Amino acid sequence: METSNFTDTQLTVREAIRQVCSQFPNEYWRQCDRTETDPKGFHATLAQDGWLGIALPEALGGAGLGISEATMMMQTIAESGAGMAGAQAIHANVYATQPLAKFGTKDQLESTIPNIISGQWRVCFGVTEPNAGLNTLALSTTADKQRDGSYLVTGQKIWITCGQVASKMILLARTTPLDQVKKPSEGLSLFCIDLDRRAGSGLDMRKIQKLGGRAVDANEVFFDHYPIPADSLIGREGQGFKIILHGMNAERCLLAGEALGLGYAALARAAQYARERVVFDRPIGQNQGIAHPLAEAYMQLESAKLSTYHAARLYDTAILTHGGMGYAAEYDVERCFSYICLDVAGVAKVNVQGDGSWSQIALPQSGGCFSGCVDASMLRCFDDRQETLVLAKTNASAADARHLQNFVWGPHLFKQSEVFFASIFLSSKTSELQDLQ
Ligand SMILES: Cc1cc2nc3c(=O)[nH]c(=O)nc-3n(C[C@H](O)[C@H](O)[C@H](O)COP(=O)(O)OP(=O)(O)OC[C@H]3O[C@@H](n4cnc5c(N)ncnc54)[C@H](O)[C@@H]3O)c2cc1C
Repeated sequence: METSNFTDTQLTVREAIRQVCSQFPNEYWRQCDRTETDPKGFHATLAQDGWLGIALPEALGGAGLGISEATMMMQTIAESGAGMAGAQAIHANVYATQPLAKFGTKDQLESTIPNIISGQWRVCFGVTEPNAGLNTLALSTTADKQRDGSYLVTGQKIWITCGQVASKMILLARTTPLDQVKKPSEGLSLFCIDLDRRAGSGLDMRKIQKLGGRAVDANEVFFDHYPIPADSLIGREGQGFKIILHGMNAERCLLAGEALGLGYAALARAAQYARERVVFDRPIGQNQGIAHPLAEAYMQLESAKLSTYHAARLYDTAILTHGGMGYAAEYDVERCFSYICLDVAGVAKVNVQGDGSWSQIALPQSGGCFSGCVDASMLRCFDDRQETLVLAKTNASAADARHLQNFVWGPHLFKQSEVFFASIFLSSKTSELQDLQ
């Protein structure tokens, strides 16, 4: 990877994380995957060295760095051979804590963040629901306020990563029914809740059997009048959607970095195999039919890298500089942000259909990994555009990596590379966009 665009801090993070990850060789990850064992040792080691607090405030024991550095951390983890197993064991602790760090009360921060940074508590992100999917605003889990200010949560979440090992969940639930709000984005609230798995608590969790990425659990979570205290609310009631975007935007940057890491790792392995495998008395990499797709993949990864870190930089600068006002159209930062993203993503010119209605933006198709279209309503919010950007580039790198692994490895694909392969698939699934209509 070309590293001249990175800051000294990012490069220092990369080297330090590379060293931590070198203690966890491929065999460790194969074993975790085969035996469906959570990589607790890996999580504990990163926590011990303070890495889980990379983008959390120094006053609470974090490093006070940004999402740009956290993206580098996640890329390096995925690239090390840990793949999505390593990334998924860590990333919610970094992105899901962003809304808490920005909107939590002093008491909330002091009682939770240090325990998350130290690794004592792990965090999961409770957003997706079976009947809402990408349409987050249609989620139906409710948190009903009681007279004493506490809430009773009822509903179902799905695909909740690390639910089995987490102590805390950042939960998005509806506190005002959809038919009583002006806009569907209103009436949702964000909570930081305990996970009480005891029988009769009102919380039940079932592990989902998956194609791959088996080291890290994914779960269906059922709430039935599950009690949570008043002080688990993050920020203002009803404002949860705006607040959670601070986590979702960070998540998209981290996931894009992780997909990049997978791509670079797959490319490095494919190139090594192409150098070493000799057929017809010469390395197969000497054949242009093998070499050119590798070079093409490298170029695409480099392009995806620029977009990914550009998005992360924008997260760290424009939006954070403006704090909450970054969301207000008044300051125009959201518009600048969107134009830059559209330019970088290259979707503005080529993909906006010319029917005068801006009805659709086609996302670039890459190796069949993902292709889709986004309704014009997505153009109304800068967060959507950032996701479009990250999604497009993330899926390009994941798909290309998969293509080149297939291409170069042929029948050897499902040996050493199987964990990567499953991880790349996973990465493309988890980078789905949010439809904000
Ligand atoms: C391994 C794994 C881990 C996960 N971890 C978590 C987690 O920790 N927490 C959490 O909350 N969620 C998690 N998710 C959920 C993930 O975010 C969702 O799978 C994702 O948001 C897509 O939702 P869905 O699967 O219901 O797809 P659907 O919404 O049902 O979409 C199905 C397909 O249609 C496409 N589509 C839908 N609408 C449009 C449109 N308007 N334009 C174009 N295409 C469209 C989608 O891209 C997708 O390909 C995880 C998922 C996986 C697979």
